[in-house]
Amino acid sequence: MAERKYDKISAIARRRGFFWPSSELYGGLAGFYDYGPIGALLKQNIEKVWKKIFIAQEGMLLLDTPNVMADSVFQASGHLEHFADPLVTCTDCNTNFRADKLVEEKLKIKTEAMGVDELNGAIIANGVACPKCKGKLGEVYKFNLMFGTEVGPGEEKRIAYLRPETAQGAFVSFERLWEVARKKLPFGAALVGRSYRNEISPRQGMIRLREFSQAEAEVFFNPSDKKHPCFKEVEKEELNLLTIEEQKKGKSEKGEKFTAKEAVHKKIIKSELQAYYLTLAKQFFNRIGFPDSSMRCRQQLSEERAHYSIDTWDIEIHSEDFGWIEVAAIADRADYDLKRHSETAKKDLSVTIDGKKFLPHVMEASFGIDRPFYLLLEHSLKAEGKRTLFKFKKKVAPFEAAVFPLVDKDKLPEKALDIYNMLLENNVMAQYDNSGNIGKMYARADEIGIPICVTIDHQTLKDDTVTVRYRDTTKQKRVHVKKNYEILHEIWEKD
Ligand SMILES: [Zn+2]
Repeated sequence: MAERKYDKISAIARRRGFFWPSSELYGGLAGFYDYGPIGALLKQNIEKVWKKIFIAQEGMLLLDTPNVMADSVFQASGHLEHFADPLVTCTDCNTNFRADKLVEEKLKIKTEAMGVDELNGAIIANGVACPKCKGKLGEVYKFNLMFGTEVGPGEEKRIAYLRPETAQGAFVSFERLWEVARKKLPFGAALVGRSYRNEISPRQGMIRLREFSQAEAEVFFNPSDKKHPCFKEVEKEELNLLTIEEQKKGKSEKGEKFTAKEAVHKKIIKSELQAYYLTLAKQFFNRIGFPDSSMRCRQQLSEERAHYSIDTWDIEIHSEDFGWIEVAAIADRADYDLKRHSETAKKDLSVTIDGKKFLPHVMEASFGIDRPFYLLLEHSLKAEGKRTLFKFKKKVAPFEAAVFPLVDKDKLPEKALDIYNMLLENNVMAQYDNSGNIGKMYARADEIGIPICVTIDHQTLKDDTVTVRYRDTTKQKRVHVKKNYEILHEIWEKD
């Protein structure tokens, strides 16, 4: 069997410090991964690009709220009731299975719309047995995916949960945000942080995690105005759209190409607001390194939609090993959240604008960070001759430049350190390496995707010029360190 790309990437990831299973010393904990020193930088850079778009460009309000929230939050949000997967346990070997996945696999039928009773019926009628020991399966029941915990001791003890989405942090502080936003709509709140889902049997490595990172934008708007003031700026962008109707006809995997403007005009996407954020999401993935050809926008079927959404469009990126993977979702949450929190907290969260009182609606642009991180490794990994390299864009590469002395003597390390410090002073994220021969140092830099290597040799001592070597072409060029900031121009040049 051919080596899966996932295995190849995992091997490099461990060796070079991108990621590895968490708690590995004790056999690991399924669904939890550590980011190593290189992976942590790459991940941070992906988040930086996201913040640049949503905080700087879109002017959203950045929030940083706790991972643990009171049970009443999730009572109101509906997660205690709805955020669950059907579980079935073998009565002989006690192995747990996701009932819908098991029935889908065994009977080759679609199970998204099936409830607990229907799944039970299908298992009994078709004699579906435990795939592990052929034993009898028990009753299917709903298993809530939230991690519960307790806060405080004894009598004061309160039940709490690890948040299953960062979004709730924005809804529960809506009143504060409304003040900060100077009582004007629309405005957005942005959250970047960890979320938790106790997945029943995560077996897809970095693709399905129990603790994962999200970047979410919650845009509060007036439901009588589902337009966006900057739509004109994105209306010519092309999107590969796969609608519910086309999916039901079993049509074109990739969808059909429309501009954002056409999509709204032809009512393929129901509102300008949703089309705007879908386009913005696409642009984010473009910026971190995914071309349009690797992406599609798929409208979620009604049976797969989360309980709070009236219409959701996903952005999916294709993976060699895992097929189409959801990386972002633009969900029209309508007034669901503020309404439920108004009711549960017994506090009217409606606003008054121009004498009209109403509950703001929410358009959500929700992004996973770990999946794009992994997919970026998959899409950027290249084997060229004997070289293995990650062709990351400069914006997300863990380091912008690597600095080496050609040999570890003759005052070259001292000079190399001078140049390295000069780069740091100019805010270049540089890495210094003097650990081996030049070929090995180039190979190491390639394998962590550093776009430019700067080598200091004997000539540098005479005329302050260095060799710049480009990762993508291996071409080399002699540039001056200070004159006209030649070296900084090479590093900062756009890609
Ligand atoms: Zn069994």
